Amino acid sequence: MKNKTDIKSLNLCELEAAFAQMQLPKFRASQVYRWLQVQGVSDFDEMTNLPLALREQLAAAYYIPSAKIERKLVSALDGTVKYLFSLYDAQTVESVVMRYKYGYTICVSTQVGCRMGCKFCASTLNGCIRNLSAGEILSQIHAAQRDLDIRISHVVLMGMGEPLDNYENVLRFLELVSDENALHISARNISLSTCGIVPKIKELAKLKLQITLSVSLHAPNDAIRNTIMPVNRKWGVDTLLAACREYAEDTGRRISFEYTMIHGVNDSDECARRLGKKLRGMLAHVNLIPVNPVKENTFHKSDRARMERFIAVLNEYGVTATVRRTLGADINASCGQLRQSAKQAAQKEVSN
Ligand code: SAH
Repeated sequence: MKNKTDIKSLNLCELEAAFAQMQLPKFRASQVYRWLQVQGVSDFDEMTNLPLALREQLAAAYYIPSAKIERKLVSALDGTVKYLFSLYDAQTVESVVMRYKYGYTICVSTQVGCRMGCKFCASTLNGCIRNLSAGEILSQIHAAQRDLDIRISHVVLMGMGEPLDNYENVLRFLELVSDENALHISARNISLSTCGIVPKIKELAKLKLQITLSVSLHAPNDAIRNTIMPVNRKWGVDTLLAACREYAEDTGRRISFEYTMIHGVNDSDECARRLGKKLRGMLAHVNLIPVNPVKENTFHKSDRARMERFIAVLNEYGVTATVRRTLGADINASCGQLRQSAKQAAQKEVSN
């Protein structure tokens, strides 16, 4: 989409300013904004209350980023839906829609691939290809809502990519998605997950957003964390936890720590004790996630008894923890895996 502007990434003020420059009345900007942000249309021709000439004028200057369904898997166990979407340049990203008692949650991607290199994660296997624009992150929600004929109430930025490595676009996404004239999903219903980019956590804290910050900790000390998360060599566990403490104090929001339980790597009582000591007294909650084995690595998940014991030890330090409910187990719902398998299938076809 060279030479054209991504119109869905503009907020209402920016759209009004652009329309004013084109000598178009202000109400037209509101109409277009509604089509883009609420209806989630992917073509100017769907904007039926605009004159044809205006639709053509807009199409000449702008493009609407869309997420086209390439593959869709529906879990027979719990109805979780996983999408592989293709973008304007044929790159692909994944999203997952989960149904909870309180409504529908979507897990969206923020980058094509990821450059963080976590050893257990499928999204990072081929590095980061590019950032998604705010409009492309929104398009995943729009495409899923339209396909399933539902309204999504909660968003987690836990799909492919590192949200804080695409900071500007992600902030713009947060602004747009929560706008009352757009999808109006409140910040309190949004979680952002990071592997621990400390300077960005500090920047984010200053904004005092009401979103939930999830931090992928996965180990209580540098010795273990260095071996599974390269980002830890830059910002170690103590530096990260100091930033988290600051974040919780600045925003008054409880931090959610993700802890992927990997058999024999980070799941011992000793690890739980170290973690308990470090998180004691902090506004925090720990989510244990049994590691999802990925073909490209040799990690195995901890068993239920081990996870329960880990929680009991954390509780001794006054730290609360729960095991993350597994949804979509039959459709490989954890991020990065569908894209990876689609890619390998395509490579096979080419080499045959
Ligand atoms: N880059 C962000 C968000 C995307 S990953 C982050 O690191 O937080 C979302 C969560 O899934 C992270 O906690 C990540 O560590 C975890 N994860 C990735 N691969 C996994 C796997 N194979 N099994 C279990 N959890 C995994």
